[in-house]
Amino acid sequence: MKHIAAVGAGFSGAVIARSLVEAGYRVKVFDIRDHVAGNCHTERDPDSGVMVHRYGPHIFHTDSERVWEYLHQFTELMPYTNRVKTTSGNKVYSLPINLLTINQFFCKAMSPTEAMAFIEGQADLNIADPQTFEEQALRFVGRDLYEAFFKGYTQKQWGCSPNQLPASILKRLPIRFNYDDNYFFHKYQGMPRDGYTAIVEKILDHPGISVELGTKFTREHVQEFHHVFYSGPIDGFFDYELGRLGYRTLDFKEIRAEGDYQGCAVMNYGDESVPYTRIAEHKHFSPWEKHEKTICFEEYSRACGPKDIPYYPIRLTQEEAMLRDYVQKARDEEGVSFVGRLGTYRYLDMDVTIAEALEAANEFLTLVEQGRKIPPFFVEPI
Ligand SMILES: Cc1cc2nc3c(=O)[nH]c(=O)nc-3n(C[C@H](O)[C@H](O)[C@H](O)COP(=O)(O)OP(=O)(O)OC[C@H]3O[C@@H](n4cnc5c(N)ncnc54)[C@H](O)[C@@H]3O)c2cc1C
Repeated sequence: MKHIAAVGAGFSGAVIARSLVEAGYRVKVFDIRDHVAGNCHTERDPDSGVMVHRYGPHIFHTDSERVWEYLHQFTELMPYTNRVKTTSGNKVYSLPINLLTINQFFCKAMSPTEAMAFIEGQADLNIADPQTFEEQALRFVGRDLYEAFFKGYTQKQWGCSPNQLPASILKRLPIRFNYDDNYFFHKYQGMPRDGYTAIVEKILDHPGISVELGTKFTREHVQEFHHVFYSGPIDGFFDYELGRLGYRTLDFKEIRAEGDYQGCAVMNYGDESVPYTRIAEHKHFSPWEKHEKTICFEEYSRACGPKDIPYYPIRLTQEEAMLRDYVQKARDEEGVSFVGRLGTYRYLDMDVTIAEALEAANEFLTLVEQGRKIPPFFVEPI
């Protein structure tokens, strides 16, 4: 019997591989990198002993009972609440913007109701139908909060002015009128005791799965397999023949120190004059561990070149048009399903990635049983 190939040893590839071996298939997992876990990869820094999130901080959060329980089969999830601070105009504030942020920023002591009325007074009500990120922010919170907390950060993150970004990026009022500074709204939140790579290693630890690291999978290999689940970049699969889909990439500048460098896991920098978007101090992601030394990373965002790691899909009008063409090419291809954040060119949190991978494997098994065709996408990219 031919094997199934899972391209990419991130959560997408690993979860699909595991589901299929448990249903009796043999799966070969490929990754171009020399480690598993994709962008969620964690490793212990040999000098400080701190668990480092190699491709940027990852906090697990979800509303899905199914995904939360799935992950518990492979790790212990330690209690963790993501609380982010931001430095703006040489002062430190709490994020997401909450009553503490508003009261500190405007030097007031307002109650929730007073603050609501106050922010309504700040909002630019002349903007009836916001078209851009900037208009949306001005409409919601007014110029002062926009400039302190959104303008510089967004400019640095996306490399363009917020008035060139669509309003849809800022979907709802980005403010809380209470003192809740938990960054996420989800019911479950936690950090894996031994990092994310240990989870993925466990998911892949099955006699029916073989893993080939340091191996680039290309279109020519497809015919060697019964079916291919491809979680690499969709444009890369077609050798970028229609051009490259736009991504932002990140550069990390390491800082080493003794003790506690910044007193929190994540400090954003809202001012445009500071070139990085944030500093992450990784020992604070494992508050149950004790380390004398510390390691932090300044995070710089820029346009992704051909040799860089793609992080955030840009998905503006131009990219949407190119994506449409790649999706059409994928539909004409036999024996491949495109999955995950790169295969479908979407930003996906880990819980969504895992849920979609479980669903893709289930659907595959059902379709095979019914003798039906396997689709190029289990979730439509557009
Ligand atoms: C900076 C940053 C912070 C994030 N923080 C969070 C967070 O706090 N919480 C959260 O839930 N999510 C977070 N995410 C999202 C998280 O990283 C993704 O959900 C997850 O990585 C998606 O898994 P994946 O398997 O689809 O993709 P990936 O992890 O990217 O895995 C794809 C793999 O495919 C491999 N590959 C590509 N092409 C080929 C090829 N041709 N041949 C062989 N291998 C190939 C790559 O090397 C890679 O390892 C964050 C993302 C970023 C960018």
